[in-house]
Amino acid sequence: MTLLAERTETLTTLGSALRRALDGAFADVRAAGRESFPADNLLRDPTLGVEASRDWVFARLRELTEAGFGSTGLPRAAGDAPDPLGAVTTFELLAHGDLSVTIKSGVQFGLFGGAVANLGTEWHHDTYLGDIAALRLPGCFAMTELGHGSDVASLETTITFLPGQDAFEVDTPTPAATKAYIGNAARDGKLAVVFGQLVVAGERHGVHAVLVPLRDPAGDLLPGVHAADQGHKGGLLGVDNGTLAFDHVRVPRRMLLDRYGGVAADGGYHSSIDNPNRRFFTMLGTLVRGRVCIAAGAGIAARRALSIAVRYGLRRRQFPAPGRPDGVLLLDYLTHQRRLLPLVARSYALGFAQNELTAALVAVQGGSEHTERDARELETRAAGLKAVTTWFANAAIQEAREACGGAGYLSANQLTGLRGDADIFATFEGDNTVLLQLVTKALLTDYRQAWSGLDRGGLVQATARVVGGTVLERTAANLVVERLVASVRRRPEETTLVDRGWHAWMFEERERHSLESLARRMRAAGRAAGDSFEAFNALGDHVGFVARAHLERVTLEAFIAGIAACPDPEARPVLERLCSLYALGSIGADRAWFQEHNRLSSGRAKALGEQVNQLCRELRPHALGLVEGLGIPEGWLGAAILQD
Ligand SMILES: Cc1cc2nc3c(=O)[nH]c(=O)nc-3n(C[C@H](O)[C@H](O)[C@H](O)COP(=O)(O)OP(=O)(O)OC[C@H]3O[C@@H](n4cnc5c(N)ncnc54)[C@H](O)[C@@H]3O)c2cc1C
Repeated sequence: MTLLAERTETLTTLGSALRRALDGAFADVRAAGRESFPADNLLRDPTLGVEASRDWVFARLRELTEAGFGSTGLPRAAGDAPDPLGAVTTFELLAHGDLSVTIKSGVQFGLFGGAVANLGTEWHHDTYLGDIAALRLPGCFAMTELGHGSDVASLETTITFLPGQDAFEVDTPTPAATKAYIGNAARDGKLAVVFGQLVVAGERHGVHAVLVPLRDPAGDLLPGVHAADQGHKGGLLGVDNGTLAFDHVRVPRRMLLDRYGGVAADGGYHSSIDNPNRRFFTMLGTLVRGRVCIAAGAGIAARRALSIAVRYGLRRRQFPAPGRPDGVLLLDYLTHQRRLLPLVARSYALGFAQNELTAALVAVQGGSEHTERDARELETRAAGLKAVTTWFANAAIQEAREACGGAGYLSANQLTGLRGDADIFATFEGDNTVLLQLVTKALLTDYRQAWSGLDRGGLVQATARVVGGTVLERTAANLVVERLVASVRRRPEETTLVDRGWHAWMFEERERHSLESLARRMRAAGRAAGDSFEAFNALGDHVGFVARAHLERVTLEAFIAGIAACPDPEARPVLERLCSLYALGSIGADRAWFQEHNRLSSGRAKALGEQVNQLCRELRPHALGLVEGLGIPEGWLGAAILQD
């Protein structure tokens, strides 16, 4: 084993090559980030209370902002070039440390700053972005209300134009309209982007956003603004979440963030987008970067936990065995391998998918030409990967905690803190279950567009086109995958269980069939007499299945593309095994579906488990390289159990 010294760590050649492969197109940017990131003060003392945690987090964020990390990607003034790649890679780096800092940064620069940048116009940019980026003006993104979380269109807060006064009045008309869980609201926020229904001359124009000052320079609340502390939470103690309510608060007309809709001095409403529904989704769509960042951050949290557990498994011994008088290393137990290595494999898979998502964000928000369809596909992919990666992070962190035994439960070993902090990633920036519904809705729209106008005989072809064309064309591995699938289509059961063509075919079949049958059931539900809500409601589990099947396929294809782009002869066979482990894990999890739909014989289904065991055995000797490849420098893990 050759060792390579980097500034932050010494890596095996395999670990170094795997890291380059997983960092993909952004390998140089990420390596430079790891080199320059100020990592001395990375983790918060877990025994700090709420107020001390908030102090520590604010101070750390200031330190990082001054060092050039934090506000990357946020323009400083009107006309500044966007830098979505900088925003995502900086967020990833921050997720290597205390996640309260990561989320506080996300609230300040991503949500609050991002809303001013994306929904505001020149005056807002020139007046506020510099102070926001320098953290001189801490602020809030106040969308959620007590009564309205996932259903943003139903927000109750009103933003009413006051004719003749060149002003709006922002009001919380009912207790349910109180803004809730808002980051920076309890303590630090001075200005808020407040989302509410715009009312002009008695007419409602849908959800818009307005800037509302919250506190004076001394930190006291301004007249009409009510804020309360949401108190102790299950994690993210360093973020001051709170409620906000407004009692007929007046702000000047120019405080409305009016890029997509505004009110002229004479009281006339104007918008470049006539359709209110389209306007609403366009406004929300510009905020897609937050979901890309949360998915990226969750991926890093999972990698941290798995790095700790695998490294611990390489030092901890339990029970002597013949020829092993000192005890067996945990990671030499096949059960331990089966608990951790499939999660490591999935971590790689989602990492490759995240790279493609980041590339899509750069294509849409990086200032180059793109179509509305590109923007819509980015939103769908971001919603879906945010959901699957945050769910994965929660599962992986818990498994890593248990894999470290009692030591895993000590705060000094980081896992319980990570678990508490990452938990809520499944809910904020869009609840995961609701996000999967969005994914399936978008797939059905594509399906209908390809399907409409075709007779029954054309249906199969149309379905193939949707899954094999408009959706597939966005993934880099398209042609490779098409060839792989073509090679097994006629005799899928005659391949080995590690045949990539078979994996790709199974993933495609799962998505194609479930989407096609859902479309059929949706049409039937639409025609059925009676309660139409209940007819659609009954399809809920099918809707979630389709989204997951789609995301699994996209992820597999990203993995295949990642392997194709890896030139390293030592890393490639390891990546191939990881990819098989990921694919078989996914097929195994849905084996009942595959068997029910005659895509998997019971003989092959039974053989899956032994094949997974075999892959784990083959990967075991590479365990250290695998976690090095995940990209978290050992010295940054901060787990006491890894320090001698
Ligand atoms: C720590 C923290 C920080 C936050 N920061 C901010 C912030 O800075 N700014 C901000 O605006 N908001 C913030 N939020 C709010 C967050 O975005 C919301 O909690 C989230 O959008 C979900 O809304 P909800 O809590 O009202 O849940 P609900 O929407 O009530 O959902 C509750 C449950 O019902 C399910 N459900 C809902 N609708 C459906 C449906 N149609 N079909 C099936 N199931 C459904 C969901 O899956 C979920 O499990 C934060 C929340 C937390 C906890």
